[in-house]
Amino acid sequence: HPPAPKPESPHHSFLLHRSLLLPPDTVTHASGTTLTLSPTRTIIDACGGAAVSCIGHANDEVLAATIAQMRSVSYVHTGAYTTAAAESLASIILNKNPYDLEKALFVSSGSEAVDAAMKLARQYFFETGRPERRNFVARKQSYHGNTIGAMSLSSNLPRKVPYEPLLLTNVSHVSPAYAYQYQLAEESEEQYVARLAEELDGEFRRLGPESVIAFVAEPIVGATSGCVPAPAGYFRAVREICDRYGILLVLDEVMCGMGRSGSYFAFEQEGVVPDILTIGKGLGGGYAPIAGVLVSRKVVDRLRDGTGMFNHGQTYQAHPLSCASALAVQKIIKRDGLVARCRSMGQFLEGELREALEGRKHVGNIRGRGLFWAVEFVQNKETKRSFEPRLEFGHRVQKKAFDLGVAIYPGAGTVDGVRGDHVLIAPPYTITETELRKIVEVVREAYDVVER
Ligand code: PMP
Repeated sequence: HPPAPKPESPHHSFLLHRSLLLPPDTVTHASGTTLTLSPTRTIIDACGGAAVSCIGHANDEVLAATIAQMRSVSYVHTGAYTTAAAESLASIILNKNPYDLEKALFVSSGSEAVDAAMKLARQYFFETGRPERRNFVARKQSYHGNTIGAMSLSSNLPRKVPYEPLLLTNVSHVSPAYAYQYQLAEESEEQYVARLAEELDGEFRRLGPESVIAFVAEPIVGATSGCVPAPAGYFRAVREICDRYGILLVLDEVMCGMGRSGSYFAFEQEGVVPDILTIGKGLGGGYAPIAGVLVSRKVVDRLRDGTGMFNHGQTYQAHPLSCASALAVQKIIKRDGLVARCRSMGQFLEGELREALEGRKHVGNIRGRGLFWAVEFVQNKETKRSFEPRLEFGHRVQKKAFDLGVAIYPGAGTVDGVRGDHVLIAPPYTITETELRKIVEVVREAYDVVER
């Protein structure tokens, strides 16, 4: 028998992640914290895509700034020119940091930013006559993007399978810092951190520390494991080990940066400064494709003293419209004190989430920082194991919440195929208490329906 024909989707644009056969929902209008899906259906956007929308949708000031840029300079190639928009955007970001992050490179996506960070880190050693440095160490349960380089660093194994032969072989992965699932019962937090530090040190020594370019990690893991902040002291221990061997520390804040965590950069809460930092999502707030790499003086100096070039030119790099709209977004964040608002609204959200869900039978863990929160579901609170099939519980809660009028983000991947099943709540920084109450009410209702 020939196989039954598959149903045709009426949509012609390529849908990512979801099955090509599943018809998507069309959004006809987005404004503030809401998405309109049909004349009669408007929902609250409680995840801003995946933590992208930070000042809400359809902001008039961003619109005006983008149109003004369109009128003045809509395009020049950054191989030859810079623009006031790109320079002002770099200054507003770099002037905010008392650290040694000296230069900003703007690209069009987080994945490109991560690839650029890998190349910059490699070039740092090339310029200093240490070409033997060729390895990267990243972590299991991480997401860094979908280009070849960024996917090689990421550890979402099921998603990597079709592309395995294309991926880099000079990347290895150590354990995630995920206390809820991996800290042993008899272990203190300090002991857990010491165990992770020992593992990282062991991995560097296994590879030969002189062969390692950089350790790459998200300060708060986002897309795969749903908002996992590291235990206290973890990043300080990591920084110390990297410094011991002259290995660079690359932090990926594409998802958790730009205020989302309650500080402008998430690393500020960890007591370390990276050598290279990637940023994205909240940089442009969804208004234009833009991400960036912030590079420390240490790395910039080597390039300046060496070839003086970084070969990463791309046609739409630092695009004037993207820079102008991101500049407007960052000005609003600064002027309206939205980072502090993230902290206070985050506290409110945490309180509401705990009150509504903590006692529930399958709610294993509620965790987050700023306006970046995850609720993890487990079959059994003792074993902390997820339901089978994996990720089903979180997906069902997400779908039910969507039906009830709130968009939240479903969990994606796990380390070992068993642990971790969550939903993510990451609304715009401009969200109100009333909206947050409504979001939590809907998530609780969705949970109750799924539990039954
Ligand atoms: N790094 C992190 C930490 C991310 O969360 C993401 C996107 N989810 C990326 C990189 C890739 O960014 P983009 O989707 O813009 O390529």
